[in-house]
Amino acid sequence: MDKISIIVPCYNEEKALPAFYRETCAAVSEIDGAKCEFIFVDDGSRDHTADILESLCASDNRCKYLSFSRNFGKEAAMYAGLQNASGDYCVFMDADLQHPPKLLKEMYHVLKTEGYDCCAGLREDRTGENKVRSVLSRTFYKIIRKTCKLDMGDGKGDFRMMNRTMADSVLELKEYNRYMKGIFSFVGFDTKWIPFHNVERTAGETKWSLRSLFRYAVDGILSFSSAPVTMAGTIGALLILAAAAVGIWAVLAGKGLTGIPLLVCLILLLNGVQMFFISILGQYVTKDYMESKKRPIYIVKKRGGFSGI
Ligand code: UDP
Ligand code: MG
Repeated sequence: MDKISIIVPCYNEEKALPAFYRETCAAVSEIDGAKCEFIFVDDGSRDHTADILESLCASDNRCKYLSFSRNFGKEAAMYAGLQNASGDYCVFMDADLQHPPKLLKEMYHVLKTEGYDCCAGLREDRTGENKVRSVLSRTFYKIIRKTCKLDMGDGKGDFRMMNRTMADSVLELKEYNRYMKGIFSFVGFDTKWIPFHNVERTAGETKWSLRSLFRYAVDGILSFSSAPVTMAGTIGALLILAAAAVGIWAVLAGKGLTGIPLLVCLILLLNGVQMFFISILGQYVTKDYMESKKRPIYIVKKRGGFSGI
């Protein structure tokens, strides 16, 4: 019988956890051919989350929990959960029932019978979400799609079930600044997306302020893209061209390269050259930064015919 590890990062979720546990247990009981384990990760909660998890673990031997010494963030909690999961399949779920448990059955079925390595929820809308946040999130995903060569779109969140091979590949990326959506995309594998509608969280409130979301967004872009550095180079090159244009115009228009045209030309040129070389320096730093993550150079999905060697 297969084992599905349900990994749940929890930060101050005392209000949501009982309903989450109840509904997820009900959903899991409908999956034929698989049993489950819960890996709850208490991410330094300040409410009674840890007490609730302790009593769940005492009453249900499928439940396990880790409690962080402080709040390390959802990414760290997901990583810790995955490291401690022993299932043949692993799925990440938020504790607030925004990831519908009834999809678990379909996800498992897709992985088992359709040959996919991963089955992920695709949130189709942002109903009930704060308007400012929706607009900012959409803008962020537009930027990230343009700057990173990875498949990260609006609605493609962390709610996904993956097989052991993919889970182990995700664990191979040990970088400190983690951005799971980028990591899932980086490791590759075949993913099937199943759409679902957004629902408001069952209880409690969102843990993300606009400030923390902004920081998360910047982290996401910087972890997977050197586009900002390249952009500095492009702006530098444009400033140099603009300096040349001003110079040529001044000479052709018979004004001579003196006075204000000379000043404008010099300002553009010096700033352009500076930005251009800062960008080159940035490219070296980015390369070193990416090297320091020690990401795997490739990821093997299957092997064949090696036994005879
Ligand atoms: N979470 C966490 N650590 C944090 C912030 C959030 O473990 O620092 C968990 C949280 O308990 C929930 C999930 O991550 O299970 C998603 O958080 P939330 O629902 O607040 O995010 P939203 O759905 O508003 O994006
Ligand atoms: Mg939520």
